[in-house]
Amino acid sequence: MCGIVGYIGRRDATPVLLEGLRSLEYRGYDSAGLAVVHRNRLQVTRTAGRVQDLRDRLDGKTATKATIGIGHTRWATHGEPNETNAHPHTDTAGRIAIVHNGIIENAEQLRDQLTGQGVKLVSDTDTEALAHMIAAEATEGVTLEDAVRRALRHVEGTYGLVVLDIFQTNELVVARNGSPLVLGIGDGEMFVASDVAALVRHTKQVVYLQDGEVATVRAADYRTVSRPTTVEAEAGDFELGPSYQDFMRKEIHEQPEALRRALRGRLDERFATARLGGINLDPRQLRSIRQVKFLGCGSAYYAGQMGAVLVEELARIPSDAEPASEFRYRNPVVDPDTLYVAVSQSGETADTLMAVQELKRKGGQVIGAVNVVGSAIGRECGSGVFLHAGPEIAVASTKALTNMAGSFAMLALLLGRVRDLSAAAGQRIVSGLRALPDQIAQVLSDEDDIAEVARRFADAEHMFFIGRVRAWPVAREGAQKLKEVSYVHAEAYQASELKHGPLALINCSMPSVVLVPADELVAKNISTIEQIKARGGPVIAVTSADLPADLADATIRIPRAEPELEPLLLNVPLQLLAYHVAAKLGRDIDKPRNLAKSVTVE
Ligand code: GLU
Repeated sequence: MCGIVGYIGRRDATPVLLEGLRSLEYRGYDSAGLAVVHRNRLQVTRTAGRVQDLRDRLDGKTATKATIGIGHTRWATHGEPNETNAHPHTDTAGRIAIVHNGIIENAEQLRDQLTGQGVKLVSDTDTEALAHMIAAEATEGVTLEDAVRRALRHVEGTYGLVVLDIFQTNELVVARNGSPLVLGIGDGEMFVASDVAALVRHTKQVVYLQDGEVATVRAADYRTVSRPTTVEAEAGDFELGPSYQDFMRKEIHEQPEALRRALRGRLDERFATARLGGINLDPRQLRSIRQVKFLGCGSAYYAGQMGAVLVEELARIPSDAEPASEFRYRNPVVDPDTLYVAVSQSGETADTLMAVQELKRKGGQVIGAVNVVGSAIGRECGSGVFLHAGPEIAVASTKALTNMAGSFAMLALLLGRVRDLSAAAGQRIVSGLRALPDQIAQVLSDEDDIAEVARRFADAEHMFFIGRVRAWPVAREGAQKLKEVSYVHAEAYQASELKHGPLALINCSMPSVVLVPADELVAKNISTIEQIKARGGPVIAVTSADLPADLADATIRIPRAEPELEPLLLNVPLQLLAYHVAAKLGRDIDKPRNLAKSVTVE
């Protein structure tokens, strides 16, 4: 969510900051701003608009020759998204400037105290209070870093922040607590950002700050607790390229390759199992797991639900999934024999991170399933599976979700093979997994037909997504995807639940997408379709089975996979369906309203 950039070096800072902010736009924001120091004075430019608007305002002023600066894209939590509330915020004298991601929970109290001391606050934000507090601490003989530390002692909440002092133009102070912050190490220059997307064009050497860390960054040196690591991503991974108009479609089409990457080196033909090096549990420990519980938010939660079905089927261990936020707030019973899996694309999802911390505090056993190396959840868990989906830019998750489900299939296989899953059954799953990337490519090659179906039903105001057992989490994810990108209201139901209530809503303007995998429940799913049709409801069947030709109003066929793995294939047409409905309705597909990519606030 939102973004931070900072620069200190020899270059003109303004274009570097603008470019950095542009590459963070995908995360979602409502206003933007930057501050540089020029001739010992702070120059702050802000806008309630987009980064392009900021660039336009700076036109003519971009060549400031300032070599230090900070920038921000804001996701408002305190105060409207207007120009006054946009960051950077400064103290009254215009000495200290700060950009902040996160929420200061005791902001009201801090603001009241400042007002009591005669400080005039100009914005409604929580952040501004901090600028004044740092300025008050930055007295003669106190380093900026110490002033920041002292001010932060009074702060409750989460932050990633960068602080600039016009009296110390050779340094920036950074601090992190619950909101991501990364340093990019250049040659005689340093970059700061909330996301590596803003750094990779300049450097591959990065340091992920740890929670609770406060550090001083100078052009040629820095001191942090964690060591530098090399990022895998290339600048091009964050660019759209000539073949696509938006990231969602690009990422949908990257799925075969992304899944191949996730499977690479992890399937063991000889023992018909999976090798997940990051899990660090020996067979005895794997055997002592009595329950597996997946925790995630949004699509990561639905992916967890797919994982739970796989674990129960292949390993015969009780398993389920729960939204991480619900888990952390309900004072959960933490059983030491349960393996918890914290699922998050960004690895920074605040609710999931807090759930992990709660679990660890209670002595729970937790592994991460994250896509961003070096992210908070990955580090907090210490072990887990990396998803290797590559950078995912579109807010609506596609390839990361596929890789989550693929990784959980491998986890289920591993857990199954230390129990009663036979070598032959294990081999069937190994081969099934190997076949999946090409099968996904096959589904993608039918995009035109799927797009046609999407356009036919694009003017529906509501849609049902129906699935059962293995296909039930897929139905939920399909409904979620449609809601997210097209704003069409969608609900998922288990097929058998229809008659217990929702059937009342079926009529000719309520299309249902019914998932019919070629498994032992085909006949049941056919009768579900009949029930809907008998009430005049249009049906879109997504199936790998040989359904009677005129059964549904539209049929999307997918290849037949191993039954346990079929959810990974069923999900792909639903992504395309959501995408093409949204495209037909002219939505801003990569940045759906009110949503952000990584939800780093509660
Ligand atoms: N809480 C701060 C504000 O509302 C920062 C929000 C953000 O993370 O962008 O201004």
